[in-house]
Amino acid sequence: MSVQPSVKGWCPGAFKPMMSGDGLIVRVRPFHARLDRRQVLGLCDLAKTYGNGFLDLTNRANLQVRGVSEQGFEPLLAALSDLNLLDATPEIEARRNILVSPFWDAGDDTHDIVTHLLEALPSLPDLPAKFGFAIDTGPAPLLQDASADIRVERSAEGFIVRADGSPLGQPVPRGAVIATILELAAWFTAERLPDERRMRTLLARTSLPQGWDAAAPLAAGPLPVPGPHAAGLILGAAFGQLDASALARAMETSSARALRVTPWRLFVLEGASALTDADFVSTPDDPLLHADACPGAPFCESASVETRGLAQALAQGMSGTLHVSGCAKGCARRQPADVTLVGKAGRFDLVRQGCAWDAPEKSGLVPNDLLAEVKSH
Ligand code: SF4
Repeated sequence: MSVQPSVKGWCPGAFKPMMSGDGLIVRVRPFHARLDRRQVLGLCDLAKTYGNGFLDLTNRANLQVRGVSEQGFEPLLAALSDLNLLDATPEIEARRNILVSPFWDAGDDTHDIVTHLLEALPSLPDLPAKFGFAIDTGPAPLLQDASADIRVERSAEGFIVRADGSPLGQPVPRGAVIATILELAAWFTAERLPDERRMRTLLARTSLPQGWDAAAPLAAGPLPVPGPHAAGLILGAAFGQLDASALARAMETSSARALRVTPWRLFVLEGASALTDADFVSTPDDPLLHADACPGAPFCESASVETRGLAQALAQGMSGTLHVSGCAKGCARRQPADVTLVGKAGRFDLVRQGCAWDAPEKSGLVPNDLLAEVKSH
C-alpha cells in the first residue's frame, strides 16, 4: 500500500523562514523572476556569509539561502532589504506566489501584467499559503505543468484567465486581466471548504460560473533546454543547487546583465553568450537533468543517508529518471521516477516506477549494491 505524505500548508519566505536540519531556510522570491547583476552578486555573497555557500533554485523559481543560524537571520534580512529583494510586509510576501514565463522583455504584456498584479496584491482576498499565479503570456504557454492556481495565458483570440484544473479559461481584454484574477480569487475564497486549499481541488467538487471556461489556451511551447538562447545563455542547476561562488564567477566572466529564474532547474544568464566554466549543466542530454535528490544528510534532520553525491554518481549510468530521497517524504519529486532510492536507517529502499512513499521492491541496500540495480534498469 502506498500513502502519499501530507504536504505542509505554508510556503517559507524571507520573512517566514523554515527550520531544517542544517538551520533556517530563507526563501527569496525574485520579482518578475529576475535579479539584476548587483542583486545576484549580493545574494551570492549572502549565501556564503550567512548560509552554507549554496543557493537552492526551487520548482516555484525561487532562490533559497539555507543553513542560516538564528543569529544570522536578522542581518541577512537587512541585507536582502538593501538589495531590494524583500516585499514591503510579510503579508504581501506571503501573497506573492507568482510564476512568470521567463522570456519577457521590458514593457511587453508579460512584464506589464506582472507589474499590475504586484500592485494589486493588497486587494487579493485571504488565500491559502500555497495558492499561486502563473503569468504565462509569452508566444506559447510554458508553465502549464508548474504549480499555480490562476493562470493567465493566450488563446487564439487574446488573453484568458484560467482556473487551474479547468482546460478552458475566461476570455478577457488585456485591460481586464487583473480585475478578472481578483474576481476568480474571490470566487475561490467564497466557494472553497476549509480543507480545499488549491483551485484544482475545488474544481473537482464544483463547476466554474458560466462563461469562465469558454476558451482554450494556445498549445504549450517546447520547454527551454540548456544552451544559447535569444535571451542569453540557459544553464541547468543539478538538483536545483547552485554553488554561490560558481554563480558569481559565471556572472562576472560571462558579463551577464542579470539572472532569470525558472521552475525547471534552469536559469538564464541574461545577455550572455558563452561560459568557459563547467560548474553547471550546459547540454540538454546531461543525465543530471533527469535526476532528483533532496538535500539529504547532514542537511535535513529526517535523512539518515547522503543523497546528492550518490545521485550524481548513479545518474551517469542510467537513461531513465532517478530520484534519491533522504526519507519517504519524497520532497524532491512528487511524480513517479523509473528508479527511486529511499533512505531508511542508513540504508536504501528501492522503488521502481513509483514514488518515495510507495512500497519498495527491495530494502536494506547499501551504495555498492545500488550501481548494479540502477544499471539493470
Ligand atoms: S525527503 Fe526527507 S530527507 Fe529529504 S528533504 Fe524531505 S524530509 Fe528531508
